[in-house]
Amino acid sequence: TTVFVLGATGYIALHVVKDLIKKGYSVVGSVRSEAKGEKLTKQFGGKFTYEVVPDISIEGAFDEALKKHPEVTVFLHTASPFHFDVTDVEKQLLVPAIEGTVNALKAIKEHGPQITRVVITSSYVATCSLEDDGDTSLVITEDSWNRITWEQALQDPVSGYYGSKAFAEKAAWDFYKNEKPNFILSTVNPGYVFGPQAFDEDVSGTLNTSAEIINGLLKLNKTDSVPFYKGVYIDVRDVAKAHLVAFESDEAKEERLLLTENRFYSQQLLDILHSKFPEYAHNLPVGKPGQGDPVGVKVDNEKTRKILGFDFIDLEGTTVDTLKQIIDANK
Ligand code: NDP
Repeated sequence: TTVFVLGATGYIALHVVKDLIKKGYSVVGSVRSEAKGEKLTKQFGGKFTYEVVPDISIEGAFDEALKKHPEVTVFLHTASPFHFDVTDVEKQLLVPAIEGTVNALKAIKEHGPQITRVVITSSYVATCSLEDDGDTSLVITEDSWNRITWEQALQDPVSGYYGSKAFAEKAAWDFYKNEKPNFILSTVNPGYVFGPQAFDEDVSGTLNTSAEIINGLLKLNKTDSVPFYKGVYIDVRDVAKAHLVAFESDEAKEERLLLTENRFYSQQLLDILHSKFPEYAHNLPVGKPGQGDPVGVKVDNEKTRKILGFDFIDLEGTTVDTLKQIIDANK
């Protein structure tokens, strides 16, 4: 089986590609430049080839890549802008996320009729509105949706990211319902993703947005206040495994796999750093050890856990492995 991975250079996608190759799949990855494609070919060796698709928001962007690969039967769409360093929310977050998704699905329908399974990397943020996070009476499930409007999404980059994921996933399900394509659609909806980079050699100054939350702790000075983050998390290796189940399993057909292990807040990450890596932590702030525990919405993802059939890595496991890789790279 050959799998097309749109956005193969990403933090999550590299783990997905690694798992696919380990399980004997052939992979065609899309990358935005020749140089990025060559780097991945070196890193993955034999079973990886690539196509250059510089801008996913342009109509027809995927047509050539798909026409060239009639052997592809599974399509994983992981590419979407995930950073808050934007000046134009609409142009830099909303449009590429939504248009990229719709263009990919259109191209599959027109140029990849042999493709039977499609998986989109959506997000937990497509299931829960930003302002609902502290609502302890709310239970988020695989059926929940973020209620954000276009106007609210334009307000700031964080709202823009929430909107980009919610609107893009909605557009995908609408396309699926209205166009009745040949393929079966499933989505993977992860919370904050932590865990090591797929390749140690790729650990450098600033990491992808979610892993940087942990990397950022190591950059603090003793007198700095601790940046406050809270939310739900999942390890990147579990996210990768879920992408494979999403197209391999019958139970995952037309499902949204809601990937969260538990809630976290940044003081917990710092406490783990101090207790497991004391020799690196003595120059860092301690914050208020053991204090915080900001409560929030409950997540009930029993359905997802049952479909996946494996246990998720816990906060200590994901934090320690993330830190260990960064600390080793910094040596
Ligand atoms: P990365 O930033 O590492 O990966 C993003 C990927 O998307 C890269 O391959 C990037 O290409 C590509 N991309 C971004 N914008 C464009 C664009 N305009 N045109 C073409 N390609 C583009 O982040 P992650 O691996 O974390 O994210 C992957 C997916 O997972 C995204 O859909 C994200 O929304 C989702 N997600 C991530 C979570 C997390 O906490 N990490 C949580 C929930 C969902 P390039 O490398 O060339 O820039």
